Amino acid sequence: MRIADIYKTVEPVLSLEVFPPKPGYSLKTVFHTLDGLVDLNPSFVSVTYASQGESTNRTVDIASRVRDQYHCESLAHMTCIGHTRKEVSSVLDNLEVHSVRNVLALRGDMPSDPSEVRLSRDYHYASELIAEIASRGSFCVGAAAYPEGHIESRRISHDLDNLKGKVDAGAEFLITQLFFDNRIFYDFMERVRYRSIQVPVVPGIMPILNYKQIKRILMMCEVSIPAKLLNMFDKYSHDPADLAKAGIDYAIEQISDLVDEGAQGIHLYTMNRIPQIREIIFRSGLRGKSE
Ligand code: FAD
Repeated sequence: MRIADIYKTVEPVLSLEVFPPKPGYSLKTVFHTLDGLVDLNPSFVSVTYASQGESTNRTVDIASRVRDQYHCESLAHMTCIGHTRKEVSSVLDNLEVHSVRNVLALRGDMPSDPSEVRLSRDYHYASELIAEIASRGSFCVGAAAYPEGHIESRRISHDLDNLKGKVDAGAEFLITQLFFDNRIFYDFMERVRYRSIQVPVVPGIMPILNYKQIKRILMMCEVSIPAKLLNMFDKYSHDPADLAKAGIDYAIEQISDLVDEGAQGIHLYTMNRIPQIREIIFRSGLRGKSE
């Protein structure tokens, strides 16, 4: 089913993101995650993609098995920064062969050392990939959105112009980068709608489960940390178990508030964690225990 249509039928839509293990590691871990979460009946599962292409086949393989073995709709992420047009075309052919018809089209992160990585001359921005995938007519295309602006953006208004460009190029739904302050998301939504971006914009929620994780997130995305969350880190910095519990409570509060305010969906970054994600889904009321 086209994911854009799922957002027309059910509210709020629950989706889960999983990632393929690093190259050289068995795919078992991701299937273990799926074994532990699919009974919650997510509306779709998205599978991330390594920018430099080493997980190309893994993403396609996992996304197709989500459909065929787990009978759940799948969304394959795809980046273009390290690919030629020919390579992109071959990945899309492969997705078509495996009947994966939903793609989250991304540029991919710029490598910290560009000399180490081949950058594409064919693609500079996600909008080019979106236009190309949409022109095939066989895929429903989604894109990324940044409530606090993309890390490279000098102004949030520029980022919003570029977001409109992605929708105009063919993106039919948007999934946001993680954020920890819902007010930022609500303000962002006002700006998005003011710019006549009418497609579903789905908040991406990442529960904080350990201290190392938050440092990594801040380095990668530069998102704001509300005082409440900061106090939580101070209070539980020497108690990993209590920090994880508090992180789960925080995510549940965030989700409940978003749902109360009419979010069309919740996209959970699972980090391949099973018990914590189950607890969040049950306690926030996204799914009942019997499901
Ligand atoms: P773009 O939309 O191309 O934007 C990149 C930057 O360029 C922004 O600052 C934007 O404002 C600017 N820009 C865009 N168009 C123009 C233009 N025409 N002129 C000037 N500036 C422009 N990465 C992965 O490697 N694999 C994944 O699986 C993955 N999944 C993700 C899922 C989600 C929900 C999100 C939010 C991000 C994900 N990422 C993933 C990270 C993403 O690849 C990075 O954030 C990347 O740096 C930007 O990708 P984009 O598609 O948003 O790029």
